[in-house]
Amino acid sequence: MELVITDAVFVTMAADAGPAESMLIRDDRIAAIGPAEAVRAAAAPAAEVVRLGGATVIPGLIDAHCHVADVGYLATAADCGPESAPDIPAIQARLKQAAGATPEGSWVTGSGYVEYKLREGRHPTRADLDQAVPDRPAVLYHTSLHACVLNTAALHAAGFADGQPDPPGGAFGRDSQGRLDGVVYEAPMFALFERNLRDDIARMGSHARAGLARRASERLAALGLTSACDADLRRDTFAAFAEADAAGLLSLRIYGLVVHDQVEWLLASGLRGRHSSRLATEAVKIWADGGMSSRTAAIHGTYPVPPYGSGILFFERDELTEMVAGFDARGFQVCVHAQGDRAIETVLDAYAATLAAAGGNPRRHRIEHGGAMYPPLASRAADLGIVVVSQPGFLSALGDGFAAAFPEHSDQLYSFASWQRAGITVAGSSDAPVITPDPRVGIRDARLRRTSDGRLLGPAERLPARDALVLYTTQAAYACHRESEIGSLEPGKFADFVVLDASPLETAPEGIPGIKVLATVLGGTPVHQSESIFPGR
Ligand SMILES: [Zn+2]
Repeated sequence: MELVITDAVFVTMAADAGPAESMLIRDDRIAAIGPAEAVRAAAAPAAEVVRLGGATVIPGLIDAHCHVADVGYLATAADCGPESAPDIPAIQARLKQAAGATPEGSWVTGSGYVEYKLREGRHPTRADLDQAVPDRPAVLYHTSLHACVLNTAALHAAGFADGQPDPPGGAFGRDSQGRLDGVVYEAPMFALFERNLRDDIARMGSHARAGLARRASERLAALGLTSACDADLRRDTFAAFAEADAAGLLSLRIYGLVVHDQVEWLLASGLRGRHSSRLATEAVKIWADGGMSSRTAAIHGTYPVPPYGSGILFFERDELTEMVAGFDARGFQVCVHAQGDRAIETVLDAYAATLAAAGGNPRRHRIEHGGAMYPPLASRAADLGIVVVSQPGFLSALGDGFAAAFPEHSDQLYSFASWQRAGITVAGSSDAPVITPDPRVGIRDARLRRTSDGRLLGPAERLPARDALVLYTTQAAYACHRESEIGSLEPGKFADFVVLDASPLETAPEGIPGIKVLATVLGGTPVHQSESIFPGR
């Protein structure tokens, strides 16, 4: 099978490539890319030719840290986003409808509402949900996944009662009499989400599990993503991906970060490593601290906002060092979630102790997020060769909360330009479903650094166009040991690419989220098309 793509603007992201006018795909790989005549000469006479009418072709985008199964799980919930459900009666109708299709034992689930976009301008309440689903638990997730609403049956099932104080790291909404109004914020919301996800996956047959993985990969492919690291891979989600892969339903390459307490299972099962060109498990995930917007990231000093305190560090230095060294000795790449400066310091200590004898960082151990990695920590990370996987899209979605929690350091958070200058390989990602998985939003935010209230966070850290795009292409590929296969358009690599209606290098940053994804191609096969670009495929 040979295909020539021509009449397009190619953004190859290759280090030393000349201008390209055409690209030849042979089976699932790029066979040639460059001047039109040279590519034509390399192609068989019978090669199919697709002219793109001046559209832009970029490498398939890579999300180096998201939660793929969670994205698929939310995609199976009733869509209560502003377009589908502009007011509370519409949400009620959708939940009522979902109740009919929700298996016994599962909670009726909706997602995507934004209280200030609803006609009523407020969160729905338990009473609103009770009207739609009176007799069994129902949950409605906020689009940010930082809040949800429970009906009365769900409040009971979760063990939440009216007189109860707010739980650590979270809060309950209350009515004028102080009774729970059904809205649950932050930590207890996350715990509920995780529990329901795991319970529902456990209840699914292999067909439904594969469907969850298919939905997730379709959603990401529609945004121009062809690869993603799943930052929370466990036995159940691994099974879902493997079943979808075997059935040919995976339209995404998934690089799994296996949760550290599941490594023994992984090794015993013999499933470590590459399963196919679309599924691999070669890295381990550890959480060192909490989050920036919940103010649980472990910092030096104290937060000036609730819940005050200095955040939560889950492991002391010695314990973390022992874990990191153990996984390193078994050949795993280690990826540690670290947000606050105190956590990052501890993780760097653990990496320094582990890497002292290695002379470099051959396994490419990573820091996930790195929110408060201030200059001295960044220069240590650079010296150790640590890869940092971070989330530019947090800046618009969560940046105002960061500014309140870090008033003295708000210009030094997620300091991508300084990190790149220090010599750190910085990979881009979304952490979806915490925020949208849309990489166009991340690329815009890496360039603009504007919060949703319009505040500019760290103007000196704004990246130029190309430096923002490398986060989601070549550097993300490096972060998952895949730079010889993906991340740029070069002969020998997988034919993973995206057709856009404009170049992200030539579009003003504000306009980048509006660039249309016309098609997403994975290994030479279109996995998403918004317009019929590759007819018959
Ligand atoms: Zn995450």
